[in-house]
Amino acid sequence: MKGKALYVQNSLTRKKEEFTPITEGFVGMYVCGPTVYSDVHLGNCRTFVGFDTIYRYLLYKGYKVRYVRNITDVGHLLDDGEDRISKGARLDKLEPMEVVQKYSNGFHAIMDIFNTKKPSIEPRATGHIPEQIEMVQQIIDNGFGYEKNGSVYFDTIKFANEKKVYGELSGRIIDDLLTETRDNLKNQSEKNHPSDFAIWMKAADDHLMKWNSPWSVGFPGWHLECSVMSTKYLGKRFDIHGGGNDLKFPHHENEIAQNIGACDCAPSNYWLHTNMLLMNGKKMSKSDGNTISPEELFTGDSTHVSKGYSPMAVRFFMLQSHYSSTMDLTDDALLASEKGFKRIQEGEKILASLETNGSGNSEDADIIKNLDAMLDDMDDDFNTPKAISRLFELVTKINSYKQGSLDINSVSKDTLARLKKEMPEFILEVLGLKNESQEGTSDVSEGLMQLILELRQSARERKDWDTSDKIRDSLNALEIVVKDGKDGSNWSFK
Ligand SMILES: [Zn+2]
Repeated sequence: MKGKALYVQNSLTRKKEEFTPITEGFVGMYVCGPTVYSDVHLGNCRTFVGFDTIYRYLLYKGYKVRYVRNITDVGHLLDDGEDRISKGARLDKLEPMEVVQKYSNGFHAIMDIFNTKKPSIEPRATGHIPEQIEMVQQIIDNGFGYEKNGSVYFDTIKFANEKKVYGELSGRIIDDLLTETRDNLKNQSEKNHPSDFAIWMKAADDHLMKWNSPWSVGFPGWHLECSVMSTKYLGKRFDIHGGGNDLKFPHHENEIAQNIGACDCAPSNYWLHTNMLLMNGKKMSKSDGNTISPEELFTGDSTHVSKGYSPMAVRFFMLQSHYSSTMDLTDDALLASEKGFKRIQEGEKILASLETNGSGNSEDADIIKNLDAMLDDMDDDFNTPKAISRLFELVTKINSYKQGSLDINSVSKDTLARLKKEMPEFILEVLGLKNESQEGTSDVSEGLMQLILELRQSARERKDWDTSDKIRDSLNALEIVVKDGKDGSNWSFK
């Protein structure tokens, strides 16, 4: 593995622990995906960009990673008991699966714009109904589930008494949970205890998405799908389970209870949670207008921003906070990130043009120290803000070499080659930041300029001064200056 030992902050133990995968060289990672009943909001994007960076770093270290991120397309209920997808279908006058497709497409488009890698498997809950029925049966057989009027509930009291782990992740005790369950409130009276939660729900006659089961025509509980799909694709026990920290309770707590209830095995060794995205110091909320969509952020079509920001500038902004810290989105912070990202991109461009004669090596230690430190920072629970500060230090050096305040010839050839390889690789592969200035037409114009300069050079070699001057004057008219030097010609805008 590249770098040193990796340490992660484990939400389950509340400690930073050395990461040791179950099978050497392999990592199984499950991240709770979106419920696709409306446009993805920016807080979700932060979570998925965070786990994308974790996924990228695990790959960069050399692990073979199976990254499973589900799509919730059934069973995630609103407080009034209506299925979120069904509500979307009712409001938009669509088939439930049209709602799922529409918002899955939108979600994927935004994920592409943020340059996140696709997960290895993206299972949907409705594609795993038989497996969910099977797990409900296992939970009943093991004595942790009971049926009432066609619905099946998880017996939290019995589970807590026997297994002593309920509440371990969220740090809550069962008495605190009495009034906090997000379950279907209409069915509260059916439960033995208010903290019990539904793992199978009997559907009302007008319910849109329902399946046959041994207990009723109904649908699975939201928490159950993640237990089932993680077990199916990663095994009973896997390495990393992730999600936003708003999912710790009840969703993840109940997942653990279900897995232990069904298989007598807790699902994941390490639980990683991303933190909240705030805007102007407050929780984002549609009802008081303190919200912005990814699209509004890109176009600038919102009163909360002074202009539009490119997706990579926004991604850079996200990575400037640690994934487990709250992040405060403000226009000033975005402006600063945009500027910082531009500086790094310009640094990369200058780096590509630097050459050394390798006569000295007094600069090597500083460069290598920063390159190594970037990986050390990532090995310290994926500390992207610290790694980015090393990048800024490298860019400062690169600028000094260009301006001559530091001597580029004091960098050995090997170290310059290493810097040229590792710095852009880290920015693109680990941080997932594409160089926006090199995209599209700019590549073509750079190529065209090189061609023109070569034609002019060959005219000069033939002493065809008319042609060479004509090219220079025509470029001048386009505000492009050509400078002739010993090693050929260079160009720049006036
Ligand atoms: Zn989940």
